[in-house]
Amino acid sequence: MIKLITKLAQIREVTPRLLSRLEKLGIITVKDLLWHFPFRYEDFSKIVKIADLQLNERVTIQGVVKQIRMRRAWRRNMLIIEAVIVDETGGIKAIWFNQPYIMTILRAGRQANFAGKVVLRDGDYYLSNPTYESTGGRTAETKHTAGLIPIYPETKGLTSKGLRYLIKPILGALEKLEDFIPEKILTDYELPDINIALKKIHFPLKISQSEQARKRFAFEDLFLLQLNNFKIRLRLAKEKAAALAILAPELEKIIKGLPFALTFSQKRSLEEILEDIQKTQPMNRLLQGDVGSGKTVVVAIAAIAAAASDKQTAFMAPTEILARQHYKTLTKTFGYLNIGIGLLTSGEARAFYGDALENEVKKSELLKQVENGSIKILVGTHALIAKRGKQKGVKFQDLALVIVDEQHRFGVDQRAALVRQENENAASETSVHFLSMSATPIPRTLSLTLFGDLDLSLITELPSGRKPIITKIVSLANRQKAYNFIREQIKKGRQAFVICPRISASENGSEFIIEKRKNLWLDVKNVTEEYERLSKKVFLDLRVAMLHGRLKSAEKEKIMADFAADKIDILVSTSVIEVGIDIPNASIMMIEGADRFGLSQLYQFRGRVGRAEHQSFCLLFTDSELPTTHKRLTSLLEAKNGFELAEKDLAIRGPGQFIGEKQTGLPDLAMKSLNDLELVRDARAAAAEIIKKDPNLKNFAPLKVRLQEFQKQIHLE
Ligand code: ADP
Ligand code: MG
Repeated sequence: MIKLITKLAQIREVTPRLLSRLEKLGIITVKDLLWHFPFRYEDFSKIVKIADLQLNERVTIQGVVKQIRMRRAWRRNMLIIEAVIVDETGGIKAIWFNQPYIMTILRAGRQANFAGKVVLRDGDYYLSNPTYESTGGRTAETKHTAGLIPIYPETKGLTSKGLRYLIKPILGALEKLEDFIPEKILTDYELPDINIALKKIHFPLKISQSEQARKRFAFEDLFLLQLNNFKIRLRLAKEKAAALAILAPELEKIIKGLPFALTFSQKRSLEEILEDIQKTQPMNRLLQGDVGSGKTVVVAIAAIAAAASDKQTAFMAPTEILARQHYKTLTKTFGYLNIGIGLLTSGEARAFYGDALENEVKKSELLKQVENGSIKILVGTHALIAKRGKQKGVKFQDLALVIVDEQHRFGVDQRAALVRQENENAASETSVHFLSMSATPIPRTLSLTLFGDLDLSLITELPSGRKPIITKIVSLANRQKAYNFIREQIKKGRQAFVICPRISASENGSEFIIEKRKNLWLDVKNVTEEYERLSKKVFLDLRVAMLHGRLKSAEKEKIMADFAADKIDILVSTSVIEVGIDIPNASIMMIEGADRFGLSQLYQFRGRVGRAEHQSFCLLFTDSELPTTHKRLTSLLEAKNGFELAEKDLAIRGPGQFIGEKQTGLPDLAMKSLNDLELVRDARAAAAEIIKKDPNLKNFAPLKVRLQEFQKQIHLE
């Protein structure tokens, strides 16, 4: 009896050569092999007599090899094997190329199945390159013909035929597996049991069977994911956090003192957050709102409220520029409250206590002030909480609230790690309230699954008075016109961003590929070239500056400050300004190589303008003539809001690209099925039912074990 944990090395049919190829694919055990699913099926289920063959039909013929010969094609150096196959109704030729070993298998007189497509050649029907399978006249079960034939992802030296040859007998001899999905759930959601699903995903009799099997495996992971979410919620429900005392009248005064009135959904979101942090149960909330919808002020008020309760807040941003901006916003807007506010990035440390003085301090000094509790709100990059080697992270006196801006960039897991570490740092056993913000709206299926452990607050409208941004795709031919337009706008007093993609020349030099983190220098070079061109040729008379990740923080700071103070007309930048930057006077966002960015990223860029009453423009430059590129860019033009766009982006790029494959640790099938709202809902309902009945899964031992494995898998990055 073969078990799932049986090593393939112990199976006789697996030759050493095959074994090493399988190992290269990470296929070591029977389980690994059986979970290597086909990605499609060839339909050779139709068995036809030779006399009844139709042109272009895909069929299986059961026949006898009448004659077979090999010859060399005269034109090219190619071996051609030709056979005549007969059955009681007639004969047909079959032909293969460059597979001399067939001669030793299909001798004259052999009974075999031949599966393939009937083609016409020189006026005759042929089977071109058919799959064959010796049967010896027995009607034994077949693997390669006379059915739906699984096709596996192509891999070097490991053909679909080879995999079928291995998988079919193993499936036959496999122990009966215990299904970790409870029977009731299988029945309720009409899912095949694991033993059936495994057989049917490899060798279905009908396509519908393979679809059912596939659905089951996708359901499996979604179900585990949902269980995991519910478990996190349950755990948080048991954890204790500091309940913050909110003084409504004081808060009311602070809100009245803002330079603007909060929008309706800003107010609602703030209420939801304040309600959460007054509880002893830790908040775990995501504040989601379109670019420019005003998330910062909402979370800032929460931090102020925490400070009023004498508790500390850590406010993390994904970039230094953004951290600095948040720090500035806080000190500027709430400076009059004389609350201790700190800034900590790898490049600088600042401490502010309501004074107007330059507030740069030594890092060690700032850390001291955080530890003794005089700094109430500490803004920074994730250096804030990261441990480096043996060095501990920042020590807080009494941290109660963690805010993370643009949380989707931090990954689901990092969030958990963060909360964990905060717990370690805290003197007591208490946990922290956790609030994340994202401008990348998360499509419904994803928020139900990957972020299913979070509560959601939505900012659904932009502050009033904002005009929709006019977005245009600019082709090469219209470049000069676009430049003229930019100049005109700048003469009217506006400012412009120019974004260059991170590109590097590939080997043949003609194609470009986007590089994520590598090749920063190429990134810089590209911006530098564009800066040179724009400042020395195109916009000689205007003030052009450049920004990229290689600059020292002080330089970046100075450039951003100059841009904010309208001392710079055009800022040429890499995507470092992608998130969060707020320059109300900037009204033009020009993006070079727009096709090289993801839609959500483009949307983020565009959100940098249109933040004040000026009519704003987004110009998407592209050299690409591809219709697909234009289609993608056009959806940016057409999307009414970020939410709609995210759905589109998800549909176009798939969940893997959308959230980043590595961040989830989810298997392929589950990733793909994240698009399937119905399946996601079913899995969620099933998980909810189980957790409600039996939160510790006491009566579901196999499920409990599997869930633990799964948790390990998704936390492995
Ligand atoms: P995002 O949600 O993209 O992070 P920000 O918090 O940076 O947006 O806010 C964008 C701009 O809108 C800021 O300049 C902010 O001061 C301003 N703002 C926020 N709320 C309002 C409001 N209710 N009315 C007018 N302006 C607002
Ligand atoms: Mg923001």
